[in-house]
Amino acid sequence: MATERTFSILKPDATKRNLTGAVNAVIEEAGLRIVGQRRIQMSRAQAEKFYEVHKERPFFGELVEFMTSGPVVVQVLEGENAVAKYREVMGATNPAQAAEGTIRKRFAQSVGENTVHGSDSAENAAIEIAQFFGEGDIAG
Ligand code: ADP
Ligand code: MG
Repeated sequence: MATERTFSILKPDATKRNLTGAVNAVIEEAGLRIVGQRRIQMSRAQAEKFYEVHKERPFFGELVEFMTSGPVVVQVLEGENAVAKYREVMGATNPAQAAEGTIRKRFAQSVGENTVHGSDSAENAAIEIAQFFGEGDIAG
């Protein structure tokens, strides 16, 4: 299996509760390497663009509000099968349905404030990485 990259966000509920190190430890213990990382305040325009696919959903406004409510950490993760691996490590969107030991089971507060984002395909990973990183910001 080839090494691939995925895009991750440690969401505002993680930065607010000072959990970025704890979440990063779970990521690294799972064998994923953090090859790019930056702490930013997302603008409304950035959040709307990032979650554009959900713009017709009833939670879109709330989601953009939440993602701009405080700093986030945007990351590029690298490893074998990184996209699927990270989705597994994150756990289900709703923490009430997330498996034991997953990031969302351990840390997430609700289906909205669910601590992490991870790309759902290699194709989307490339698009999402390009929204926040230049090649020069990534060192594997
Ligand atoms: P995932 O982040 O697991 O890929 P989705 O792509 O379905 O999940 O949704 C994107 C994000 O929108 C979720 O991570 C969560 O923050 C928010 N979200 C999803 N469903 C709901 C919901 N029913 N109510 C509030 N927020 C939601
Ligand atoms: Mg998604």
